[in-house]
Parts: sequence; structure tokens; C-alpha cells
Amino acid sequence: MTQYHSNFTRLTNATAIILAKKLGLVDADANLSCKEIGDGNLNYVFHITDTATNNGIIIKQAVPYAKVLGESWPLTLKRAAIEANALIHFRSYCPEFVPQVYYSDEQLAITVMEDLSHLKIVRSGLIAGDSFPLLSQHIGEYVAKTSFYTSDYHLEPSAKKEVARQFTNPELCKITEVFIFTDPFFEELPGDFEVELTDAAKRIWHDQDVILEVAKLKQSFETEQEALLHGDLHTGSIFASETETKVIDPEFAFYGPVGFDLGQYTANLLFQAVSRNGAGKEEIFTQLDEFWRSFEKTYSELWNTHNKSPFRHVTGYLPYLLTKFKRDAFGFAGCELIRRTIGLSHVADLNVMEDKETKIAAKTATLKLGALLIKKREELDVPAVIEWIKQQT
Ligand code: ADP
Ligand code: MG
Ligand code: MG
Ligand code: MG
Repeated sequence: MTQYHSNFTRLTNATAIILAKKLGLVDADANLSCKEIGDGNLNYVFHITDTATNNGIIIKQAVPYAKVLGESWPLTLKRAAIEANALIHFRSYCPEFVPQVYYSDEQLAITVMEDLSHLKIVRSGLIAGDSFPLLSQHIGEYVAKTSFYTSDYHLEPSAKKEVARQFTNPELCKITEVFIFTDPFFEELPGDFEVELTDAAKRIWHDQDVILEVAKLKQSFETEQEALLHGDLHTGSIFASETETKVIDPEFAFYGPVGFDLGQYTANLLFQAVSRNGAGKEEIFTQLDEFWRSFEKTYSELWNTHNKSPFRHVTGYLPYLLTKFKRDAFGFAGCELIRRTIGLSHVADLNVMEDKETKIAAKTATLKLGALLIKKREELDVPAVIEWIKQQT
């Protein structure tokens, strides 16, 4: 039986408006409209607008089960508090990239936040061919800042452990452990793919080197506490325009390996890289390059100016860490590429491709690239990945 919290009730458009008025976040006499706009898998999102001024607010509410997985997969309401808390933490380190939280209520599992409707969800934007010239530079800075400032290099190690305790997030981590790190790698476990991909899928399931490396990556995800991660940093969790970038939806936040956020963003650029041609493909290569440059540059600057560790001046320590982050990230990116192709949850970037043959070719390349990233994550770098994509797709 699902355990509903005694004080939990689902918001409706009408009660969402009443709440916004009660909180004083909208003019009490205003003419308000409210629409549920959640396209996500787990939660409801209410968009309330003042019809005269067009000013809006967002109320996101979690329900005690995953919307797509159904009531058979109960999910803690605590994820709403984790999300609100993570937004507040991340915003304290980089307000330019995180929406403001106006109010949150743990029992109702709601987060009331800044309306970002003037921006576009990056996954849909990239699919439509929109340009976000600053996107990857911004996300590189965002990951550098959030991962540096929440690590042992900035926080007192004992204080870090206290923060980590607030972000113990076993149920959401379990979703990642099952859907990203387990199911896609075993023939007998749940999966979803076109029959034309059967041979490519079998090559992964029967490649013992891939399976061993995935086991190591999963172990790293489960045991390392390097920094407070977003935990779900795909292009559907990012709003952007030509000038602005905001990261939403950190309900999977937990203390984990920095490479996981880096790897998810990288993989979601790679879906675009394999599905595009010509100048559009080059644009994604530029984004990939800028992302990694920006992350390494910002992380190094923070290391040199804000590091409190007595080891900060030891020659080779920073390069060692940057190399480790890249290696982990490429491995995690490989898992994401594979799970979005043969696992239960797909991405529109590949699924919207109209020509069946081209789509199967792109998905086959995605699987191959995933296996390569997992196995060769130690020696690969961004230029080598770009070169591989140019040769193979
Ligand atoms: P889920 O956790 O269910 O994936 P998200 O936080 O990703 O929920 O939100 C789902 C959708 O709701 C987003 O893709 C976006 O369209 C809309 N949305 C969420 N937050 C905001 C916001 N602050 N401003 C405007 N729209 C938002
Ligand atoms: Mg989402
Ligand atoms: Mg399977
Ligand atoms: Mg979410």
C-alpha cells in the first residue's frame, strides 16, 4: 500500500490560485489563470499568470508515486523538499543559473518558484534547431561552481558530511541505479528498443569488458561523495535563451561523483551530435568543446582562489582531479547513451528522427559510442570523441 502523508492533498488549478494569493505572491485582486503544464515524468507543475500583467509564478507538486511508473512504484514526497533545498543551495553558489524559490512546503510536497516561461527547454530548442550560443559555457560554469563549493575543498569536511546527510536520497538514487546502471546491461531485464537494434544490443550484453566497467561506474555512483550533484542534468532540465541559462528540477540531488553531472550533460549533447548533419553537427561539437573548457577553467580558478585544503598547492593534485572527473564523466555518459537507446526511457532527440533507416543508424552509432566511452574513458578526450562521431555518423 502506498503511504500517503496525512496532510497531503493534490493541488487543483483552483487551490493553486488560492495558495498563490495566500502567500502574497500575486495581487489579491488580480485576474489569475492557472494551467497544469508538467511534461515531466514524476510531478505536476502549475503555471499561474496574472492575465493583466502577464507576470507568473510556478508551483511544482510531487505526488507519492512516479507519474509514469504508476502507483506500483511508490516514491517519497521528500523529493520535493530535496529539490527546494537543492535549488536554494545551488542558487547560493550561482544565482545566475538557478531559479529563485519563493516558498516550499514539505507536507504538501510543493515548491513555489520563479516563472521561467520566457525561456525554452533546451532539449526541445535543440531539436527545433534553436541556437543557444552561451549554453555550454554557462553549464560548464554551473557544474564547476556547484561541484567545487559543495566539496571538501571548500566546505569543512565535517560540515560537508552534515550537508550530505540532508541530501540522502535513496529512492531517487535507486531510479538511477536501476534504469541507468542495471536494466540496460542485461538481456533478461526490462528494456525497450526497435527489433533492428537487437544485434547491437546483444553486442553490449555479451561484452564482458563493458559489463565489468559498468559495474565499476555503478559502484562509484553508489559510494563516492565528492560533491552535491544535480543528479538529473539532461537537456530537459535546462531552460535557456540566447543570453540566459537556468537549471531546474534537481530532485535527484545527492552527494556523488562530479563526473555524473558532467557525463549526463555530455551525453545529452551527444544525442544531438549523432542525429544532426553539416553545420548543425559542428555547432554541437563547439558546444561540447566549450562545455569542457568552461568547466575546467572555472574549476581551476576556484581551486586556485577558494581552496581550503592543506594539499591545494601540491603539484599534480588539480590535474589528477580534472583527469579523474573526465574519465568518470565519459563512463557515465556512455551509460546514459546506452540506456536512452535500449532502456525504458528514451529521448526525443533520437525518437523524432523521421526516416527509419537514419534513425536506426543513429541509434546503432549511439550504442557503439556508449560502449566505447565506457571502455576507453581513461584515454579518450573531447577531440577524439568528436573525430569518432565524424568518422562513424
Ligand atoms: P519533472 O520533475 O516532473 O520532470 P520539471 O521540473 O522538469 O518536472 O518540470 C516539468 C516542466 O514544467 C518543464 O519541462 C517546464 O516545461 C515546466 N516548468 C518547470 N519549472 C518551470 C519554471 N520555473 N518556469 C516555467 N516552466 C517550468
Ligand atoms: Mg524534469
Ligand atoms: Mg535489459
Ligand atoms: Mg524531475
